[in-house]
Amino acid sequence: MIPVQFDYAAPESLEAAVKLLQENQTAQVLAGGYSVIQELKQGGSRPSLVVDLRHVSGLKGITKAADGSIRIGAMTTYDQAATAPDVQPYAAWCAAVGSIGDQQVRNWNAVGDTTAYRDLACDLAAAALATDAKFELSGPGGTRVVNASEFLVAPLGTALAPGEIVAAIILPATANSRSAYQRFIHPASRYTICGIAAAVSVGPDGNVSSCRLALASARSTVVRLTAAEAALTGKAPTPENIAAAAKAAADTVVSEAATGSDNLSRLMAQYAGSEYRAHLRSVLAERALTQAVAGL
Ligand SMILES: Cc1cc2nc3c(=O)[nH]c(=O)nc-3n(C[C@H](O)[C@H](O)[C@H](O)COP(=O)(O)OP(=O)(O)OC[C@H]3O[C@@H](n4cnc5c(N)ncnc54)[C@H](O)[C@@H]3O)c2cc1C
Repeated sequence: MIPVQFDYAAPESLEAAVKLLQENQTAQVLAGGYSVIQELKQGGSRPSLVVDLRHVSGLKGITKAADGSIRIGAMTTYDQAATAPDVQPYAAWCAAVGSIGDQQVRNWNAVGDTTAYRDLACDLAAAALATDAKFELSGPGGTRVVNASEFLVAPLGTALAPGEIVAAIILPATANSRSAYQRFIHPASRYTICGIAAAVSVGPDGNVSSCRLALASARSTVVRLTAAEAALTGKAPTPENIAAAAKAAADTVVSEAATGSDNLSRLMAQYAGSEYRAHLRSVLAERALTQAVAGL
């Protein structure tokens, strides 16, 4: 039973959806509904209006642009977003999105849902940050495209402005970059305890020209492991150099999850202490980097 009353609208265009959000300051967007319906049932959310995006045209599907980038509509399901032929070169994305929840969850939930970016177990967000994805946002002021690093920000998880809707996620052309995602899951809930996405490019000299590492399930949003990235950039992608970068990944982050600065973090801290998390960062960073480099 849902103990709160609200109006319901299922607009057919993005403009109409944005207008509804603009006119109703306490409206809430509905995608797959797994989180929204639960919040409504528990009384944690009391919107005046629920704006269901299921009929909005242009929000579903995957298209490849002339520059090689891939646009994934916000209402595309996790399953479609992980299995479509055009996304297969984005190994980190496919592994992260294709491992969320179970098949039922992936068949129903949509990539635009913002819970996935502010949850500690934000696999999709880690892949987006490592692969330098962009977020296309539609709001009262029109459409803007922001980098994952500008969009995925603590403490709220995203830089979504009031009245804005995530319209799409854009994966940049892979060019000479390859990626991988490795995660360690809780055996019962299957939520990620530690996840690391890696994206690596090499230059003409065979050395690493770009290295991006994103960590999931440590803080209230995903974070880059910049010391580990710096440890490998400019170097040959050898097992020794990868191991040194992985050690830097273990050394540099003191996770909120371990220090327990909020309820969610305290919950995550029950699953793994700081020492064990450091070990996981090292092991998973080494695996993700090795896998990404093997694809070059
Ligand atoms: C059993 C289970 C296991 C899971 N395991 C994992 C896991 O391992 N890793 C992981 O990362 N996640 C996991 N999740 C969470 C999942 O990824 C989703 O975040 C969650 O289920 C909500 O998805 P939804 O499509 O139903 O969104 P909804 O519940 O419809 O929406 C969620 C939130 O996003 C907002 N929203 C939705 N779409 C948009 C949009 N286009 N623009 C702006 N705001 C929007 C809504 O207003 C709401 O606040 C799991 C969920 C379940 C139920």
